[in-house]
Amino acid sequence: MLPGVTTLSEPLIRALGAKNGKALETTFGLRTVGDLLRHYPRRYYTRGELTDLASLRDGDHVTVLARVESIRDHPLPSLPGQGRRGRTEVVVTDERAKLVLTFFFKGNFRPGYLRPLVPGSLGMFAGTVSTFRRQRQLVHPECELLPGAQPGSDVTAELAAEFVAEMLPVYPASAKFSSWSLAKAVKTVLGTLDAGEDPLPAELRERYGLVGRAEAIQAIHKPLDQADLVRARKRLKWDEAFTLQAALAQRRLAAAALPAMPRPPVPDGIADDFDAALPFTLTAGQVAVGETIAVDLACAYPMHRLLQGEVGSGKTVIAVRAMLQVVDAGGQAALLAPTEVLAQQHYRSVSDMLGPLARRGQLGSAEHATGVALLTGSVGAAARRAALADVFTGDAGIVIGTHALLEEQVQFADLGLVVIDEQHRFGVEQRDALRAKAADNRPHVLVMTATPIPRTVAMTVYGDLETSTLTELPAGRSAIATHVVPAADKPRFLERAWERVREEVGHHRQAYVVCPRIGDSAATGDDTDGTEYSEGDDLGDQDSPGGLPRGVAEGRRQPLAVLDVAAALEAGPLAGLRLAILHGRLHPEEKDRVMREFSAGRLDVLVATTVIEVGVDVPNATVMVIMDAERYGVSQLHQLRGRVGRGSAAGLCLLVTEAPPASPARERLDAVAATLDGFALSRLDLQQRREGDVLGAAQAGRQSSLRLLRLLDDEDLIRQAREDATAVVAGDPDLAGHPALRAAIDDLLGVQAEYLDKT
Ligand code: ADP
Ligand code: MG
Repeated sequence: MLPGVTTLSEPLIRALGAKNGKALETTFGLRTVGDLLRHYPRRYYTRGELTDLASLRDGDHVTVLARVESIRDHPLPSLPGQGRRGRTEVVVTDERAKLVLTFFFKGNFRPGYLRPLVPGSLGMFAGTVSTFRRQRQLVHPECELLPGAQPGSDVTAELAAEFVAEMLPVYPASAKFSSWSLAKAVKTVLGTLDAGEDPLPAELRERYGLVGRAEAIQAIHKPLDQADLVRARKRLKWDEAFTLQAALAQRRLAAAALPAMPRPPVPDGIADDFDAALPFTLTAGQVAVGETIAVDLACAYPMHRLLQGEVGSGKTVIAVRAMLQVVDAGGQAALLAPTEVLAQQHYRSVSDMLGPLARRGQLGSAEHATGVALLTGSVGAAARRAALADVFTGDAGIVIGTHALLEEQVQFADLGLVVIDEQHRFGVEQRDALRAKAADNRPHVLVMTATPIPRTVAMTVYGDLETSTLTELPAGRSAIATHVVPAADKPRFLERAWERVREEVGHHRQAYVVCPRIGDSAATGDDTDGTEYSEGDDLGDQDSPGGLPRGVAEGRRQPLAVLDVAAALEAGPLAGLRLAILHGRLHPEEKDRVMREFSAGRLDVLVATTVIEVGVDVPNATVMVIMDAERYGVSQLHQLRGRVGRGSAAGLCLLVTEAPPASPARERLDAVAATLDGFALSRLDLQQRREGDVLGAAQAGRQSSLRLLRLLDDEDLIRQAREDATAVVAGDPDLAGHPALRAAIDDLLGVQAEYLDKT
């Protein structure tokens, strides 16, 4: 290795050599010195503090601090021609519980590395927890004794120096790369690190009493004491929040600098006719948000607005009114839906809402009517050609579709507004592809989501969008009652659930039964249509060791499947009712047919996967039975139940689960049953995920840039950082005077470009 300085951007293979550098990349995805230094300790041991051994569980990869209690050899009877064999058992303790360290030996009795392990010595031991004869054990753990813990121990001077610090970092480690291998690597790079110029402006550091970055990096890995650590964490959190917010501020500024065609309201156009024909009165919230959007659309730079509102709060009407304003102004509007089912439903409901206003060129249509085109993967060739022509000429003012809208052949005459429904289902590239279809000017963009987003998440994940929120539901909406049905401990409850379905159908209402899996036998992996907690996942139990959810390993049954459940219901509890199935692998035409039949009331029960999760609107459906409900995330369940109780009759949602009482999965379901407050639930959801997940699917398989910042807990800091970052960027849009900040943003964007592009 060359002597000299190490920089944050230096590849680890250069700083640490090829072997360690590669191992760090394959094991943790760490590529640069900066990556390694952001691999922060998970916790710190204070000398003399012992690990709670009683809390260890099988499969956990742990580093424990404990005292050696006894050491014994258990030789096996020696066989002719073989040397000594057997095992040495070292019992260590935290003064309450015990843990056995097992070392197998062959030949050499008590190998030299075990010699320091004498009763009374204190050490750190790392390995994977297992159970042998009802005793927790680590087999061949890595051991490191603490100096001074034992008189006369043969610890080296170097090791002694390692432990001079009061707080010993424990890194997120793996069986391949132990915590102290990481500590050594960190120590190596810290020894020659030149952290470069501080990206945080001095004025801000002073205002908030933040230590310098170089100092903070040193301190988070080698804190002198608790206060030192607190200072380091505060500073590094600021870096995360500030860099991200500065990047978002730059994007907002850049977006506002692009030209967009203003689409001001035109009096006495379709929009006014539409309003006049509305069969209901808009809620105050709908009126207010509508006015905001009307102003946005009239501006000469593009709108980037996120509209959030509970399921059933009436977002679609707002979108339609915005689209009509653009049509009145001579432009076109595209509505992008995440699923075929939803696109078709939007097409039907928009066409119905518009009535004669949507029948351009037809007999009896209104004078300034427009056309509505549908473009999905399943539209037949002839209809598709006609639709494409209407989109191209501008005859279709409103174009509704799935990702088929993004295909190259789809050319708009004058795309003025893109509405994206249920944002979280869309990939970034798709959104960008659609925006790129507006020729010279950028289209206005309205993103709608029914998954309520806590403020700080909105500021972070959707930080370059302005947000509007619909807080009230239209009058006359009935409440949804939700109950957990414990199918394992109370089978009678499940029978009662099916009776309730029959009763509702008896009152000419309809029901959904939702299952996690599709279940045709030919399918292998791809059988779920998007549940959140699938087989390999942790079923909501945060501390499940080794990635193996408890239960799954012991032959947990497969999740219930649409095909099986539908067959069983038809033959049993729901015999005689009109049942149909709906899932992602049906032919699109079949999906459309089933949804139409269900909407028209010609079906009683729809057994489906989560394809019905978003947006499906059949007011006559009043019951939803969700099977294996523990497989769904909190927000997902909330979305699903939003499908019932959309009309004047009360909705009922039954969460069927075999999760045992008081299990984390059951607690999650109880929480969903206990409240209809989507914001409270989305906070809960957030608490149960890692921050990286919060930032969306774009993050999958990548390192999140947020290590220390907690979106829920650090609200004040995020808000402050946003304000300050916006001010800094406003004064220096290219950050020419802030080269270190610009470098930090580039570094961040290397990792995060995908989700920042989410507009
Ligand atoms: P969201 O997309 O927000 O879940 P929708 O726009 O689908 O909600 O609206 C749900 C239902 O409520 C639709 O049938 C819609 O026609 C109806 N609706 C919307 N706004 C109102 C209102 N102000 N009063 C009564 N019904 C409304
Ligand atoms: Mg909707």
